Amino acid sequence: MSAPPGSLLPMKNALTVDVEDYFQVSALAPLIHRRSWDERECRVERNVERLLEMFAERHAHATFFTLGWVAERYPGLIQRIVAAGHELASHGYGHLRASEQAPQEFREDVLRAKQLLEDLGGQPVIGYRAPSFSIGHSNPWAFDVLLESGYRYSSSVYPVRHDHYGMPDAPRFPYQVRPGLTEIPVTTARVLGRNLPAGGGGYFRLAPYGLSRWALRRVNNIDRRPAIFYFHPWEIDPEQPRVPGTGLKTRFRHYVNLDKTESRLGRLLRDFRWGRVDEVFGLQH
Ligand SMILES: [Zn+2]
Repeated sequence: MSAPPGSLLPMKNALTVDVEDYFQVSALAPLIHRRSWDERECRVERNVERLLEMFAERHAHATFFTLGWVAERYPGLIQRIVAAGHELASHGYGHLRASEQAPQEFREDVLRAKQLLEDLGGQPVIGYRAPSFSIGHSNPWAFDVLLESGYRYSSSVYPVRHDHYGMPDAPRFPYQVRPGLTEIPVTTARVLGRNLPAGGGGYFRLAPYGLSRWALRRVNNIDRRPAIFYFHPWEIDPEQPRVPGTGLKTRFRHYVNLDKTESRLGRLLRDFRWGRVDEVFGLQH
């Protein structure tokens, strides 16, 4: 764990970024064919550059769960992430949900991403996060594939109730899902017998900032555990092209408060101490 017993410093939490572009989001997938990805205006590089600046200003380190597709196109960005002292981890190659792949396809996707990221970053990649937290009761074999592919931890379960993802009965804190493979679930706050999302995502943009701060402090002070928080580079980009044809719910979830997220993130960086997943959860070699 990050802070030794008796330390006067507050606990360090793990900051994570899912490195993908606005047109790769699962909720928009029915409207955007993956064949069109190559023709879209890419904004991920400039958005990640902005995050790197913000993290450097606050001396914060983070874990970047990066798509192989992005790494292939922006090798310089991968090198800058590593050079700044952040952890490079895998979000798979092509942003396919684990639950929509056969085991062999999943294996190829996670191996391809790992090899690419290791070649470009020059460091071992031990962490994986499934797109849309898509490992659950229907596909526990995915953990075996991750272990066989050389990963040592996964952060692919969000123990909440949500229409697109979530496994509300899963453990709230890191656990050995297989010998040699740790699952690090995204943080929830336990309130009145229910798990509330406290680790980012749409909730961070939709609800007032004070609620996120309260929930994270509750996990640190009452559960006495470090939190793991996530967001996407497109969430600080109010200028991103709008995707036509989205339904009301998706439009609300994807676009609301994009103009406020950068300043909220600034507050989050000030209000807590942040580190890499492998550091905060003791998974360094
Ligand atoms: Zn994703």
